[in-house]
Amino acid sequence: MQSLSNRSKVVSDKPMTFMEKLYLPAILGGMWITFTHLFRKHNTLKYPEQTKAFAPVYRGMHVLKRDEQGRENCTACGLCAVACPAEAITMVANEREQGEEHLYREEKYAEIYEINMLRCIFCGLCEEACPKEAIFLTDRLVPTEYERADFIYGKDKLVESMDYRIDITDRQSTGKRTEK
Ligand code: SF4
Ligand code: SF4
Repeated sequence: MQSLSNRSKVVSDKPMTFMEKLYLPAILGGMWITFTHLFRKHNTLKYPEQTKAFAPVYRGMHVLKRDEQGRENCTACGLCAVACPAEAITMVANEREQGEEHLYREEKYAEIYEINMLRCIFCGLCEEACPKEAIFLTDRLVPTEYERADFIYGKDKLVESMDYRIDITDRQSTGKRTEK
């Protein structure tokens, strides 16, 4: 039958010649190909010493933003979790107590907020869905781990620190991301 791709090869079972049985020409030919590759431009990088520039639209590890006064923006509305196609986000909401106004911007906040980074496909829909500008994807990589449980990121890893603010405005306006 005619192959659709036209790349099929007819298998031959003709006996090997004396030279083919020696295998030496084939081995030398293979070594020659390997030798010529030494002088070609390398397509691989010596990671982690060398890294490749990210695409401007790269979406990596999430951040839960604080406002200028250091209060968490997230109001635990759950829209990000509903929008997430991978069902990677879970949270437990709580009411803000009196005296906690300096911690949480809204009257409700996420007491627990978790993202399963093994489920996440970094689509950015949580960012799109958030009405409070609380969650954003950054250009940070999710580090590798040995245990699956270590990929469940809680608020300790997601909420930005006031000493290490993460600026996502560049990425949103120009397609680039920078961290401060
Ligand atoms: S980036 Fe996509 S998959 Fe990952 S948590 Fe957000 S919505 Fe879910
Ligand atoms: S991150 Fe945004 S969408 Fe998700 S619960 Fe918080 S406020 Fe709602």
